[in-house]
This record gives sequence, C-alpha cells and structure tokens, in this order.
Amino acid sequence: MEIARRAAGISPSPTLAIDAQAKAMKAKGIQVINFSAGEPDFDTPEHIKEAAVAALKAGFTRYTPVAGIPELRQAVCDCLKARGLSYEPADIVVSCGAKHSLYNAMQVLLNEGDEVILCAPYWVSYYEQVKLAGGVPVVVNTDAATDFKLTPDALKAALTPRTKLLILNSPCNPTGVVYSRSELEALAEVILAHDLMVISDEIYAALLYDGLNHTSIASLGPEIKERTIVIDGVSKTYAMTGWRIGYAAAPRAIATAMTDLQSHSTSNPTSIAQKAALAALTGSQEPVAAMRNEFARRRDRILTGLRELPGVECNQPGGAFYVFPFIGKLLGRRFRDRVLNNSTDVAAVLLQEYQVAVVPGVAFGTDPYLRLSYATSMEQIEAGLERLAAFVRELQ
Ligand SMILES: *Cc1c(COP(=O)(O)O)cnc(C)c1O
Repeated sequence: MEIARRAAGISPSPTLAIDAQAKAMKAKGIQVINFSAGEPDFDTPEHIKEAAVAALKAGFTRYTPVAGIPELRQAVCDCLKARGLSYEPADIVVSCGAKHSLYNAMQVLLNEGDEVILCAPYWVSYYEQVKLAGGVPVVVNTDAATDFKLTPDALKAALTPRTKLLILNSPCNPTGVVYSRSELEALAEVILAHDLMVISDEIYAALLYDGLNHTSIASLGPEIKERTIVIDGVSKTYAMTGWRIGYAAAPRAIATAMTDLQSHSTSNPTSIAQKAALAALTGSQEPVAAMRNEFARRRDRILTGLRELPGVECNQPGGAFYVFPFIGKLLGRRFRDRVLNNSTDVAAVLLQEYQVAVVPGVAFGTDPYLRLSYATSMEQIEAGLERLAAFVRELQ
C-alpha cells in the first residue's frame, strides 16, 4: 500500500508531538513542567459553556448554513468593526478552528507552483498547508537583532514572478512580535506594487501587552483590504481551543470559494460550538481582560527569569503567550557526557534530565532558539525557571 505523495510529504506538527510527549510523562506520574503547549491553561468562561448547554437542550443539533449561523457571522463583523474593518456577514466564513480557515484560504488561493512568502520563525502549519495546496513555501529569515520582523526590503528581495501570497502573523507565534501600523503600511506598499495577496493571521489580536494596539493590515485602505484574508477565532482569546471555531473575513469571491470548498469537506462547524462562540463574541469581555492581565504578569516573570540565565538572551514579546529566547551561547558546551549542538539537543536534555518541555526553534524554521509558552500557572513558571537555572549551571 502506498500513501499518496500529497500526504506522504507532510511533517507532523512538532509542537503537538512534544506536548504529547510531556503529557504522556505526566500520565506516568512524572512531574513535568510543560512550556510547550500552544493553548491557554484557563477553562472556557462559564457563560460561554452555558450558551452551549442551552443550545444543546434546545435541540440546536442539526446542520447549520455551511459558513456559519447568520448571527455569529454578524457578531464577527461587529468585532472586526472595532479593528477598523468593515465586512458584511456574506464576507465571513466560520470554520472548524482558525487552522481550518487558513487551510481553506490556501486551497482556494494557490495554484501548483505558486510561491508563498513565510517569515521565519513561522507557525508550523503554514509551511505544510502551503505544500498541501500545491504552493511553494519561500522562507525569509529574521532574527532577534531585527526583532524578528519582515522588512519591505527583505520582502522585495524574496519576490519572483511566481510570488502569489504573503502570510503575516501579528502578534506572532512563536516570537510574540507585534507589527506597528507604520511597519504594516510599508509592507502594504510592496504588496500593492507587486499585486500580491496576504493572509493576515490575527488569532492573538486580543492578547497585547504594554498598552500596544493591534493593527490589521486590512484596515489600512480599500486596496489592501481587497487583497487580504483576515483570520481569527475564539481559541486563544476565550480559552476555547477544543471547541474548534475560527473564521475568515475575505473579499466576497474568496469567501464564496472557501464556503463552497467547505461544503464538500466538513460542512458547517459544530452547531452548539457556534452558539458558544456567539456568546463569547457578544457577551462580557471581562474574562478576556482577566486572562490578559494574568498573561502579562507571567510574561514579566518568565522574561526576568530567562534574562537572569547566563548565556540566554530574550527579546520582549508584545503579544500572544510565548517567549523565544536565543540560546546560541549555550551551544558547543557539554552537558555531562554530551555536547549540545543545536536547539533540539537542548530541548531533549531539558525534557529527559529536568522534565521541562520546550519546543526547539528549528521547529519554527529559526535556530538556535527555544519557544516557551507561558500559558501555564505562575507556580509552574517559577519551578520551571529553577530547573532551567540548574541546567545552565551544569553546563561545562
Ligand atoms: C493556535 C493558532 C492557530 C489556530 O487556532 P485554532 O485553534 O485552529 O483556531 C492559528 N494560528 C496561530 C499562529 C496559532 O498560534
């Protein structure tokens, strides 16, 4: 039996793999500190759960319109309005998580051989989804020195006649980097001049710190809006990763194509999860503020702790819930009888010897870095920092 080329070429998600390993160790009774999870540790707020229960009790258990119930699509429009974006419900496609929205978008945008510019470090699924759609990922590297930001010059240098699409992610997973309005304006100029499309993954738009404001590139003018697909969802903002509700806001023809595609794959996302998402978007936003404040406190703690480790450097993330420290100065050194040659070696030693789960930067296309998620309790962060300090002390 042979697996089709399309599927055989997929690399499994390295972040999910490490998270699974950490959870398996935990299940065996090992005290793992898990910094690898890409999801909030909070429970879904109560009023959202109640909306799902009410929908279930009311028998809201049948197929809905493929692109989502009209009131949810209207609620998405109202939310985007606050971002300076004017859409109508017919421009909104609700899918089974933002990951699914991204997948649909790439499937309807890309032809065989179309080049897609990704800025490394990038979220792991972009790369695979581009390939699954027949596209060719073109990676532009960034590093801590330029705060991991794609510059207009770097974008121009990566363009070829085959370039079709740019994927932007602000606030960024894994770096937490937030693009300013003027930085996005400069990128938009290049995008318009070269007739590119943009996928703007804004899943962390509500998780910003230090008084930063989110800017959507689509809000910069009607021309760029016509070339942008905005992606967001409820997973990260409302601690709803398991509910699988994400959405795209797109130019009408693209939204229609995405809906048609979805009509032959998943059909509508789960009916009661849509009602829960509606409650999330239209209900009290106080739980979001509370979670954001707690994330901000943890970010400060983990940043201070990491910067105290000799040989570790870390930029200050402006959003999301990750830190992405540089560990180049730890490489080439010895841990007991083995030399640490790359971030995978470091992550392996941390997990095996200190029971600390982190994701190596190479998983996001950029080394030598580590990604740590601070979507875990302050106690776990304190304990994890102690173990990291012990690890660094043991290096020779
Ligand atoms: C978590 C995440 C997503 C996907 O979220 P869903 O759970 O599928 O809604 C998309 N993009 C980035 C950058 C993420 O971190």
